[in-house]
Amino acid sequence: TKMKTDELREKYLEFFETKGCVRQPSDVLVPAWDPSVLFTPAGMNQFKDHFLGKVKLDFTRATTCQKCLRTGDIDNVGRTAFHHTFFEMLGNFSFGDYFKPEAIAWAWEFLTDKKWLGIEPGRLNVTVYKDDDEAFQIWNESIGLPTSRITRMEEDENFWPASAPSEGPDGVCGPCSEIYYQLDDGSDVEIWNLVFTQFNRVGPPPNNLHPLPSKNIDTGMGLERTASVLQGVPTNFHIDSLLPIVHAAAEVCGVKYEYESDNGRRLRRITDHARAAVFSVHENVYPGPKDARSVIRRLIRRAVLDGYQMNLREPFLYQLTSAVADASKAAYPELGQTTQRVAEAIEAEERAFFATIDGGMKRINHLFEEMQTEKSVMVPGAEAADLLTTYGVPPELVQTLAAEQNFTFDWVGFREAMEKHAGDSDGGQRVLFQTGPLETLKEALRETPFVGYESTQSEATVKGI
Ligand code: ATP
Ligand code: MG
Ligand code: MG
Ligand code: MG
Repeated sequence: TKMKTDELREKYLEFFETKGCVRQPSDVLVPAWDPSVLFTPAGMNQFKDHFLGKVKLDFTRATTCQKCLRTGDIDNVGRTAFHHTFFEMLGNFSFGDYFKPEAIAWAWEFLTDKKWLGIEPGRLNVTVYKDDDEAFQIWNESIGLPTSRITRMEEDENFWPASAPSEGPDGVCGPCSEIYYQLDDGSDVEIWNLVFTQFNRVGPPPNNLHPLPSKNIDTGMGLERTASVLQGVPTNFHIDSLLPIVHAAAEVCGVKYEYESDNGRRLRRITDHARAAVFSVHENVYPGPKDARSVIRRLIRRAVLDGYQMNLREPFLYQLTSAVADASKAAYPELGQTTQRVAEAIEAEERAFFATIDGGMKRINHLFEEMQTEKSVMVPGAEAADLLTTYGVPPELVQTLAAEQNFTFDWVGFREAMEKHAGDSDGGQRVLFQTGPLETLKEALRETPFVGYESTQSEATVKGI
């Protein structure tokens, strides 16, 4: 009897209710009220003013399950077993009320007590911020965790949001302590981050950390990750609430789902991007040229490219709308009300991109034939730049296709060619993907080079990339 994802979500909220936390609804995924983010990145986002002491509080303890989307993790999807773009974060929060001793003790109780998750304590390791002796002592002395299982970490890992190396975002922040679950293969996966929010960061260091009027707690536990370790599956995409979407994707794409195959990775990416698109369009954030909309456009295009590689030539992603709504209905029954509107919007975006991608793929195939004849082995950067600017084909896809032919990819030449096109550097930080050539160039320059699909990598390995 493995714990179901819906049950885990409910148990978490119930547990923290027994600790006096008031259950609050998830904030929207795209918080128009908050100009500092495109998408809600974490449970604490809706409470930023609470932490700053700016709002009158009806309660000083809260618990939520928050819809989140992290654009920074786009390239991790399909490459690691534990990252999504869209995911749910379970949180408990203290606004000047409980602090480190309770936050740590309750996290431990929830994870290990047989009444709750009943995780074997020997599976858990923790990290603390290097100077946080208080947290170290609580783990060691109050909880009884041996020092060998408590690691002191640098600011870039254990300060949230990270401010290293030079300056981080302004706002509430603090040292944190993370809880890791040890998998059967010995690698660790991070499941829960306890943030001891005690500073307001204003401007660059030094002396930019101002103690808050009161000390706070902000914690975030990944719902899908924790479900995956409880269910003993090798990736988040195999938990009970996600596997049906993966299977629906396989059916729509007309392929068999196999974990360790190119199509397996494609289907997992399609699943992730379908979730992100459905939740976003449900909130009336449609694919488009700017801001959050550009991210949704980019995710839909990536999914379309994956479909294209599985020989699809017609829109397909939109057909997963009901599968997403169905898999999410316990917590988000409202998705069921908008499936038709959402599906239509996704289909329109797919149709438009399928038109462009076809020309791009013909060009690529022609290029590969030429390379065979000329016995060249490296895809010229200028060609890749042209494919991006004329057809919107991302360089990562060109590289993947090239690798299938045993060709390499000239990233240096690509960057040079793009810089030549782009001229001066970008001004619009928030523009992530636009249809216009200039914006496409800017976006490409920001892309991380593709480092290969390694889907079975666990968290620990991926950090080294
Ligand atoms: P990682 O190091 O694995 O990228 P993180 O340190 O960036 O995670 P936090 O910002 O600490 O994550 O978020 C709190 C929790 O949310 C994490 O411990 C994890 O369980 C979950 N989480 C974070 N990012 C993702 C993601 N992209 N997909 C699924 N769950 C995530
Ligand atoms: Mg991360
Ligand atoms: Mg981390
Ligand atoms: Mg973390």
